[in-house]
Amino acid sequence: MRLEDYRFYAKLCLGFGIFFIIIGIVLPIVTAYQVRYLWGIFPPEWRFPYLAHGIVLFSIGIALILANVILSREYRIRKQKAEVAKPVSVSINKCPQCGMKFSVEYEYCPTCGVKLESA
Ligand SMILES: [Zn+2]
Repeated sequence: MRLEDYRFYAKLCLGFGIFFIIIGIVLPIVTAYQVRYLWGIFPPEWRFPYLAHGIVLFSIGIALILANVILSREYRIRKQKAEVAKPVSVSINKCPQCGMKFSVEYEYCPTCGVKLESA
């Protein structure tokens, strides 16, 4: 998985997680309201006819929020690692005579003293 995928899936999980939690809360309340006041039914044993569905949806929402937290943390860790691992851009010059490698600011080879063309 690429670095940006972690952020994408984290946002996806957060969005769906909030959605499921809201539906999980709203569904039992709305259906209870419907049954009681709109349909005029008062079943004493079914005060919240969709309570079980609501709990399941709410749990899925919580799981997705947890997935978001884990993915976000993973994204941060990997981003930090990627920044640390990024190579420092130092141009390397090589002496034509002795093959010694050093950075470009030298005008003469520090080991054998040959004048360097590219410097
Ligand atoms: Zn040299």
